[in-house]
Amino acid sequence: MINTLIPFNKPYLTGKEAHYIYQAVYSGKISGNGVYTKKCQAFFEERYGFRKTLLTTSCTDALEMAAILANIQPGDEVIVPSYTFVSSAIAFIREGAKIVFADSGKNNPNMDADALEELITEKTRVIVPVHYAGIACDMDKIMALADKYNLLVIEDAAQAIDAFYKGRPLGSIGHMAAFSFHETKNIISGEGGMLVVNDPRFAERAEIIWEKGTNRAQFFRGEVNKYGWVDTGSSFLPSEIVAAFLYAQLENLDAIQHKRKEIWEMYAEGLAELAAKGELILPEIPDYATNNAHMFYIVCNDLQTRSNLITYLKERNVFSVFHYLSLHKSEYNTTVNPLQAARVLPASDNFTDCLLRLPFYFELSKEDVTYIINTIKTFFDEYAD
Ligand SMILES: *Cc1c(COP(=O)(O)O)cnc(C)c1O
Repeated sequence: MINTLIPFNKPYLTGKEAHYIYQAVYSGKISGNGVYTKKCQAFFEERYGFRKTLLTTSCTDALEMAAILANIQPGDEVIVPSYTFVSSAIAFIREGAKIVFADSGKNNPNMDADALEELITEKTRVIVPVHYAGIACDMDKIMALADKYNLLVIEDAAQAIDAFYKGRPLGSIGHMAAFSFHETKNIISGEGGMLVVNDPRFAERAEIIWEKGTNRAQFFRGEVNKYGWVDTGSSFLPSEIVAAFLYAQLENLDAIQHKRKEIWEMYAEGLAELAAKGELILPEIPDYATNNAHMFYIVCNDLQTRSNLITYLKERNVFSVFHYLSLHKSEYNTTVNPLQAARVLPASDNFTDCLLRLPFYFELSKEDVTYIINTIKTFFDEYAD
């Protein structure tokens, strides 16, 4: 047994972060929308063809901006998977929306695109596909429904940097998208996020909402000769210090992704035998999706097995964690939306009970991955007896 704990996550520093932060600090301009913010936004726009990007202080903030831009009004309905992080729903709740929860697919935590149409009513305004583990939702089906019923699609691409759907970058397909650079994601800035605006109808207003309801950005581009209060908004932009940190990460995006994919493949190969025996299920990556190695998860056969495995791993210095709890059953939703809370969403509940995330970070060594795989194997050997 190894004698130091293998944590679940460890933020990776490329080595340049402090240097760029130093540059930002001594440049004399440390508030937002400066040199590093522009460098990061240009990077994303060039690399992924996103029409317009705005750095935000979190993915949650980017989703809040999207909800404002979508002009959500009290009583509007927004379709969100139940198996997701709170932010996917709360950003719309704050504008008065009613959340209608979609179940996951049977083999994949993403929303089941084939079961979405029955959730659409006259009040539906937005669908929020969440690309769980960076694995694409079935976007053609979702976009077709949006076209048919005149809905907006806002991708929660928090986990989906550098991931693709039929060759198209995630975040570039919906009308808008939100990314996260929280320290648990592939590319980080501590806290941080980004709004992507693909639909040109929202581009100008997005900048205004970003900068406290003012047309400050237009003023600095010389498009208007004074700036003032023109709309609603908030202070959604991060300081240059955060953007400088992020830029150091972006320079190393390919190296980070390469390493993460190696770790992911090691897990998948090492656990294939247990999957073949039916002891656990490995992540399913549909033909239309790529793997951005955001996380490695397994699905156990039942809650008891998962609980036992978490304990077994912990006693052997491996820290594994379960993930979301079906949002439709949450305390908050049960209070505000008892009818939704009473719905039966078996696939979401199954992932709530059975999905387990294994340690996953850039500096996870091959020895540690081997140790984790072997520990899981011994667990099932002992468990089978
Ligand atoms: C991490 C995450 C968020 C929240 O991101 P923040 O940057 O912490 O606000 C939202 N949705 C999903 C699916 C996430 O994984």
